[in-house]
Amino acid sequence: MALDDIRARIRAAEAAAGRPPGSVTLIAVSKLQPADRVEAALDQGQRVFGENYVQEAQRKWPAWRARWPEVALHMIGPLQSNKARAAVELFDAIHGVDRASLARRLARVAQETGLAPQVFVQVNTGAEPQKAGVLPAEADALIQECRQLGLNLAGCMCIPPDDADPRPHFQLLRETATRNGLSGLSMGMSADFETAIAEGATHVRVGSAIFGARPTERPG
Ligand SMILES: *Cc1c(COP(=O)(O)O)cnc(C)c1O
Repeated sequence: MALDDIRARIRAAEAAAGRPPGSVTLIAVSKLQPADRVEAALDQGQRVFGENYVQEAQRKWPAWRARWPEVALHMIGPLQSNKARAAVELFDAIHGVDRASLARRLARVAQETGLAPQVFVQVNTGAEPQKAGVLPAEADALIQECRQLGLNLAGCMCIPPDDADPRPHFQLLRETATRNGLSGLSMGMSADFETAIAEGATHVRVGSAIFGARPTERPG
């Protein structure tokens, strides 16, 4: 099955980079995927999943979590501030933190709920106008702000531009994290996770290579 293949490729990429086995966490990106495919992955022991939409995740995951309580859920899509509370209540990690207002909202909700999801600061490494993420030049300030707010800061996240060599983007993200004393690097998707692992990824977000193509429509 595809999941076994991806696991083997992750192990091989870890070894090729001289990194210990298990140093990379596979986030299986289950957004928009049919339930039977996600349940097949759960049956095969996959326990870390990524979702992009708060409402979709709220619909799907409570029942699965009742059956597989050790599942960890990562929010990997852009997060609207008005969904911050729902996201904190549902997710173990939030990867799309890209502005101070959202960081402040998350900190307030964390304080009110006593929940402390891991936070990854999303960096727009290609400075693409249409893409989420803090600009590289502003990343240090946002990371510092997250620290001061007491967020459970885990690392940095990026999505390289579509038609570019991803490697310099992964390198820029690693430099940003290292400079700020952060060890988590959420980078690499179906097409480029091996390159990301070579550049130090600690979390790869792989969807279609595990589950097959997604329906393109966003759910309502
Ligand atoms: C959808 C998505 C992925 C998974 O993409 P694939 O190409 O299917 O592996 C990874 N990261 C983010 C942020 C996504 O939105």
